[in-house]
Amino acid sequence: LIVEDEVRLADMLRRLLHRSGYTTDVCHDGAAGLDNALSGIYDLLVLDVMLPKMDGLTLLRTLRAQGSTVPVLLLTAKSELQDRVAGLDSGADYYLTKPFEGEELLACVRALTRRQPELHDPDILTCGDLELNRSTFQLTCGGRSLHLSRKEFDMMELLMRNCGLVLTKESLLLKLWGYESDAEDNNVEVYISFLRRKLSHLHSRVRIKTLRMVGYCLEVGT
Ligand code: CA
Repeated sequence: LIVEDEVRLADMLRRLLHRSGYTTDVCHDGAAGLDNALSGIYDLLVLDVMLPKMDGLTLLRTLRAQGSTVPVLLLTAKSELQDRVAGLDSGADYYLTKPFEGEELLACVRALTRRQPELHDPDILTCGDLELNRSTFQLTCGGRSLHLSRKEFDMMELLMRNCGLVLTKESLLLKLWGYESDAEDNNVEVYISFLRRKLSHLHSRVRIKTLRMVGYCLEVGT
């Protein structure tokens, strides 16, 4: 989630992150930013300090007071030394001083979105007879292997990380397409059907089960 009132900078950030494969939402004021951030669907907040309606530090403190542990990358102006200190004290994980290089921002984003240490976050995710390679986007079952598109991969990864747990259609939609997209429930159904076709092609015993009116979960067959 990008919370930045300078429209051109927000747009530059959005395009930069998009090119690196991230899905983003953009808010141009602090109140909307807090509202979105509290949804809990984001993996990272890129947060400006000086914002209309609610400043970034108030947003951050409110978010932390509500128990959110989402990583926060603060964007500050050069003159705002006290803001940087206050920002870290308020629960920011890191800050970048404007102007910054795109490469530097991407490195911060990569560092802050590493969910767990490498040791616990292996390249290969497994569930039942399935293996998902997070580097090559290959889905493997026994001797058979298929390549997944980016969206298929993101969806499969979410399902496998939550193997046996139900994911609602809405949470899949928000996680994979973000708030601001025009994607509808229908998109989720379409990608679920792509994945089902691939699972059947792989002769996997893992199935994507539909719970009517609730969502989807991976079921490991015997
Ligand atoms: Ca600003």
